[in-house]
Amino acid sequence: MDYQSTRSKIKTDPVNAVLQGLSPDGGLFVDPAIDSISFDWRSCLKKNTQDMAVMILSTLLPDFKDMESLVKQAYSGKFESEDLTPVVKVGNYHILELFRGPTSAFKDVALSMLPRLVTAARTQTGMKKEITILTATSGDTGKAALEGFKDVPGTRIIVFFPDSGVSLVQQMQMTTQEGANVCVCAVKGNFDDCQRGVKQAFSELRETLKDRPYTLSSANSINIGRLAPQVVYYFAAYRDMIADGTIKEGDRVDYCVPTGNFGDILAGFYAKLMGLPVGKLICASNANNVLTDFINTGKYDRKRPFYKTDSPSMDILVSSNLERLLFLACGKDESKVASWMNSLNETGEFTVDEKTLSYIRDSFEAGFCDQKETEEAISKCWNENHYLCDPHTAVAYSVADKRKNSNPVVVLSTASPYKFPQAVLRALGEKEEGNGFEQMKRLNKISGVRIPENLRTLEGKTIRFKESIDSDKIVPYVLSKLN
Ligand SMILES: *Cc1c(COP(=O)(O)O)cnc(C)c1O
Repeated sequence: MDYQSTRSKIKTDPVNAVLQGLSPDGGLFVDPAIDSISFDWRSCLKKNTQDMAVMILSTLLPDFKDMESLVKQAYSGKFESEDLTPVVKVGNYHILELFRGPTSAFKDVALSMLPRLVTAARTQTGMKKEITILTATSGDTGKAALEGFKDVPGTRIIVFFPDSGVSLVQQMQMTTQEGANVCVCAVKGNFDDCQRGVKQAFSELRETLKDRPYTLSSANSINIGRLAPQVVYYFAAYRDMIADGTIKEGDRVDYCVPTGNFGDILAGFYAKLMGLPVGKLICASNANNVLTDFINTGKYDRKRPFYKTDSPSMDILVSSNLERLLFLACGKDESKVASWMNSLNETGEFTVDEKTLSYIRDSFEAGFCDQKETEEAISKCWNENHYLCDPHTAVAYSVADKRKNSNPVVVLSTASPYKFPQAVLRALGEKEEGNGFEQMKRLNKISGVRIPENLRTLEGKTIRFKESIDSDKIVPYVLSKLN
């Protein structure tokens, strides 16, 4: 089986696609035959979540050996429960809780699995070099990546975060990280400064590291090894809704997804292509509603104000994984995708043709909500159902609630409310004062909802990483760690 770039005829096998991350032409790797893939989805629904993961990942990444043990290493004992992603019935909706992993972020689902795939790919290709993961983070990704790569043989991870850009809790999560192969460093500046420095490291160090025993890689969501594990929970939620009597096998279910980089919702589309009876995938955005406009009109236009919202992981104007959908939607015409991406780069916009748009609208719908509606959703969900949701989940809840629903709807929940206690307190009309830990405790007192263990015990942990550097020192910093 071959993966292909979305922008040219470059091909590679899944193992090398995982090792490379991005295609050399700047495109993303896709399986061009995913829409005719043969997959026994009915028997998949009979399995527990980890066995589902084995079956789904073996189908999407068939040349990986012993997927069963990779899945076990990734997930066993790491999540709050062995079914990884529980579904909770809340009012008219089913909320799919994706935040029950080691860092209380939905990114744990993928970033627990990716390191296992990377090391397996390294072994299978006979690569001798150590893989060094460089990550710039605005919050959640850094911690989830650190936890995923912690003490994974043959890898090392260096995370850079902006000293003025992450919350106290997020900073503590990273600077107290355990593990012998991890390194965390603050950068003076904002997230863009961090990201620029990391990109510079990738381009400048390629030559330098050629003859040294290290190779650089990234953990971001353009890697197919991060996308594939996310297909699993769409099946798991469907299975659980059969079990609780909401649906019968074959009934259609809609999924409403709080969207940023379009990875989460694209995994839902892959589930649909693999046979799962998905009705509509509802793309929920916050005030940064570029995807809402695109799905409703066919014109993607990033030339618009950028809003900093209470759902920061969705504050994105260019959603990279959309490119994978575009490739399938336009009839797998890589030159078309390349020209759209080129236009986006040069003019800040592109417009797809009628046929491409209608392919997308067959499976996708889109909506957005503003700050006030997000807060209303948090308080409504609490007052009516006694369920506490975080601001990202609230965006999806609000979008689902504004819609005429005919099928049962699953709302994907991407973070624990305790990761954003200030916004949740404000939405509930409570006092916001104090630091993140004080806010967590107040929220716990008011709601009685348990604080996840990893966040509850964070305050007393020893800070291991205290370095802070200028953003133009990222390259020498990385080099100094590779000795
Ligand atoms: C990353 C993230 C999202 C967005 O997911 P995408 O796959 O980038 O669309 C939504 N909510 C939270 C809390 C996240 O961390």
